[in-house]
Amino acid sequence: MNALAATNRNFRQAARILGLDSRIEKSLLIPFREIKVECTVPKDDGTLVSYVGFRVQHDNSRGPMKGGIRYHPEVDPDEVNALAQLMTWKTAIADIPYGGAKGGIGCTPKDLTKSELERLTRVFTQKIHDLIGVNMDVPAPDMGTNAQTMAWILDEYSKFHSHSPAVVTGKPIASIQEGAATGRGFVYATEALLAEHGKLIKDLTFAIQGFGNVGSWAARLIHERGGKVVAVSDITGAVKNPNGIDIPALLNHKEATGSLNNFVGGEAMDPHELLVDECDVLIPCALGGILNRFLSSFTLKLVTFVTISGLIKDKTQMYLKNVFSDCLLPFHIVHRRENAGNVRAKFILEAANNPTDPEADEILSEKGVIILPDIYANSGGVTVSYFEWVQNIQGFLWDEEKVNKELHRYMTRAFRNIKSMCQTHNCNLRMGAFTLGVIRVARATILRGWEA
Ligand code: GLU
Repeated sequence: MNALAATNRNFRQAARILGLDSRIEKSLLIPFREIKVECTVPKDDGTLVSYVGFRVQHDNSRGPMKGGIRYHPEVDPDEVNALAQLMTWKTAIADIPYGGAKGGIGCTPKDLTKSELERLTRVFTQKIHDLIGVNMDVPAPDMGTNAQTMAWILDEYSKFHSHSPAVVTGKPIASIQEGAATGRGFVYATEALLAEHGKLIKDLTFAIQGFGNVGSWAARLIHERGGKVVAVSDITGAVKNPNGIDIPALLNHKEATGSLNNFVGGEAMDPHELLVDECDVLIPCALGGILNRFLSSFTLKLVTFVTISGLIKDKTQMYLKNVFSDCLLPFHIVHRRENAGNVRAKFILEAANNPTDPEADEILSEKGVIILPDIYANSGGVTVSYFEWVQNIQGFLWDEEKVNKELHRYMTRAFRNIKSMCQTHNCNLRMGAFTLGVIRVARATILRGWEA
């Protein structure tokens, strides 16, 4: 199931639980505005390359729209749409005065030089500068972008408008950086959940999939609290150590070599195995859709046949693609991706956006796995973005201690609010979070007079 279908399905389920008016339901599903722009930039050798950039502004009933900009080869309109919608629920759950948006450019940032990335970012900003703004839509970093990208956006935006530091968050001069913010908020969320189950981070083992901005911070903070990180993976490979990985040493190793391979403090492992390996807590910190449903061996054989044969006409491929969603991948990828039935962790904490397919969600719930949903678990990033925006508007910088204290307050309050929705509606944490976000946005929409 693609990301948009999965997000819409969760939203519809929440709308049903809440008994939402079908007209409100429809209006909340349709994005406020979808922007698609062509960005042609010269490479360093002078050749021109064209990219497609997106910004989906999903909803602004609770405030300016807010969300990251992603640079990744898999960026597509459906995915950006899904992520924009998730931002609307996420900001509502955190109870910060924002709506939701998301952007992206389909590119491979590691193949571009710094000056190529700068030109691409500036051209993208030129194309969307009239549609973003301090009180309209406030971008931030996401996968493949960082504080430097935000500084370029701010600089380019300021050429068309007055200098407005609050037009983007996650900039270089912030009290704490986006990855650290998301990681710290995530750990506060983890502590809130574990406390409910009478557990502490220091008594548990963790497997972390993704060791980028968010994953590396989550690993560092869990390690600092005495949690045993037994496996870590990223796009370069994976490492395991049942006695616990020395995370500061692994961070140094990655810094020095650019990869997780050949780390002396653990054994290499297959990154796909990490998801189904023995641990108490599994933390997906990378791309969406990583936890998938189990396909029957018949389906597997059929998909493999269709994929490998290459003889089948486009129309048939399209039909099968609709039937099997994104499963028309080479056999080994399909084979490795359907894993929900084999997950051994007792808790899954979604630091990534959209890591669990709805079918996988059902399988995992039936197995009794407790899932802390993305729209709450990774909301520390956007919450600290909100603090940055407030500071920029006031022209007054907080110290890190104040940021962390406020973040802790927001994360624990949101958890209490989600739990109370779970009790009211007798539902799991994902539906508790969705119903909380959706009802807050629906109320704002109705109060603002949507029927006029
Ligand atoms: N990219 C982050 C997210 O997906 C942060 C977005 C923001 O700060 O606006 O939540």
